[in-house]
Amino acid sequence: MNLTTRILLGMGLGLLVGFALQWADFSAEHFISVYLTYGLFDAGGTIFINLLKMMVVPLVLVSLTCGAASLGATGKVGRLGGKAIGLYLVTTAIAVTLAMTMALVIEPGVGASQADTEPPSYIGNKPPSVKQVLIDIVPDNPIASMANGAMLQIIAFSILLGIAISKAGEQGKRFRSFLDDINETFMKLITMLIELAPYGVFCLMVTLGVKVGLAEIAKLLTYFMTVVATLAIHMTIVYPLLLKSLSGLSPLTYMKKMREPMLVAFSTSSSGATLPVTLRTVKNRVGVSNNVASFAIPLGATINMDGTAIMQGVATVFIAQYFGYELGADALLMVVLTATLASIGTAAVPGVGLIMLAMVLGQVGLPVEGIGLIIGVDRLLDMMRTAVNVTGDGMVATTIAASEGELDLEVFNDPEAGRIIEPETEPDRQDLA
Ligand code: ASP
Repeated sequence: MNLTTRILLGMGLGLLVGFALQWADFSAEHFISVYLTYGLFDAGGTIFINLLKMMVVPLVLVSLTCGAASLGATGKVGRLGGKAIGLYLVTTAIAVTLAMTMALVIEPGVGASQADTEPPSYIGNKPPSVKQVLIDIVPDNPIASMANGAMLQIIAFSILLGIAISKAGEQGKRFRSFLDDINETFMKLITMLIELAPYGVFCLMVTLGVKVGLAEIAKLLTYFMTVVATLAIHMTIVYPLLLKSLSGLSPLTYMKKMREPMLVAFSTSSSGATLPVTLRTVKNRVGVSNNVASFAIPLGATINMDGTAIMQGVATVFIAQYFGYELGADALLMVVLTATLASIGTAAVPGVGLIMLAMVLGQVGLPVEGIGLIIGVDRLLDMMRTAVNVTGDGMVATTIAASEGELDLEVFNDPEAGRIIEPETEPDRQDLA
């Protein structure tokens, strides 16, 4: 059985067990609740997420330093950066515009309001200033950045270190070959961890199945379905169109190869924790060179959140409709802008998209209390939007690689490339850089 099938199986079985446990409705003190649901399965899921997160900082540091070292100070780093940031912002703006259009047509908030509610008074929270955002990219202490997982600071430090290596002559070469060895070893370690995914995903799905409230979803069905439909359109129409038109590559091949990161993102609700899986897949399965992948994927995981922006677009319109606010053209434009910027500031961990929604609502004067209306269904939506977030990161990385001659077409077109079949038989693929 290939890994995707095993992950899917783990997922399905986990959900079944979780639903069964919810249905059996054990009391909080019951043996099964204490030792299985909130004991063994909860621990298993958390350990799996921690194993993935454990790799994020070392991996980004080493692979990006290697990438920047081979690009050197050629100006290519700047060009790649410009392309990546531009594409990430454009795809997010498309996502939120699509979301608001869907919500304005479907009107999930109209009729959802039962009472003639007087909108509560609300003072919008202030987003951080552009000056502070810029300052925060440059670390004053890279060790502290690594300890705190401050991704943009780690990216800045790795790029500078890589450029210095490319200019440091013999010593630089020796350092570079040492880093290349570490990078290869890390990729091996990630492959080992990904093999655990079916078990980790099983545990995560059991705890989800126990907690998921179907009654909550039924109450907010129109809102829920509007978000799901928009995520689906973005994933199956917008991304394929963009990939095809910008790179000429087959969207179907790309989507098939990205199944594992999508499933891990869905189960963990964290594009940060999924980063090692996304990076390995984009390099070894899709064929993007280390130079591009090591830069575009961590950057994307940090600043690109199309799925999150979709939820925020639909939620803003929903809340406005619920409280009886009219959103004029200028307010809609403001939502596109703030949701796009909010996606940069959203940490790649579960549930943060909802917290950042407060900033979007505040910008257009909507009551932040509205978040309370949708919080009950956000757990499931978070899973789906995280899968969209990582698919978008990979799509942009692939498009940039294709335009820079950094994509190995042989790998892209080979369905078996980089595939994990079973533990011992995986071919040792050399790093593509
Ligand atoms: N869970 C999302 C992610 O990690 C962020 C969010 O929308 O809350 O990409």
